[in-house]
Amino acid sequence: MSAFIIDAFQFCRQQERREGKVAVSDLRRLSEELSGVPTGLLHWSLVGGSDRQGRPQLQVSATGLVQLRCQRCLGPMPFDLASHSVLVLAPDEATADELDQLLEEEEVEVVVGSSAMNFLTIVEDEALLALPLAPRHDHCPEPLEPVSDKPGEEARKSPFAALKNLKN
Ligand SMILES: [Zn+2]
Repeated sequence: MSAFIIDAFQFCRQQERREGKVAVSDLRRLSEELSGVPTGLLHWSLVGGSDRQGRPQLQVSATGLVQLRCQRCLGPMPFDLASHSVLVLAPDEATADELDQLLEEEEVEVVVGSSAMNFLTIVEDEALLALPLAPRHDHCPEPLEPVSDKPGEEARKSPFAALKNLKN
């Protein structure tokens, strides 16, 4: 059993709090959205409680510096991730749908809670939601001239590479 599993309902009932850091590279889905080898840490926190109607409510936050991939030049682009959400826990999908409609106007998200929730998944979801859909530099850096110790080698190689592909 992972140390990252909590009983989400109990966590809220007992108004527990947790915070910590996680290596970005340990969050696989987040890493896939980033440029290059993921580095750095995300700080996260979880605060359990209840909303005005007594529904279990989880506040989650994630902050840290990540390197996004610019959609225009494909270069790395630093992004200061700082996200905070309020999640209302529902016991099952049907209740979640009802709550979704009920709480449409409120700035909360409804999720199905469980007695064995991996809170790193919650933190990762939070981080993913905070990423811009199509990150772009305001001004893309000038592309660097390709640097090669042996000029011409690429050019010599490529005709053979092309022939090889034709045979296949
Ligand atoms: Zn760019």
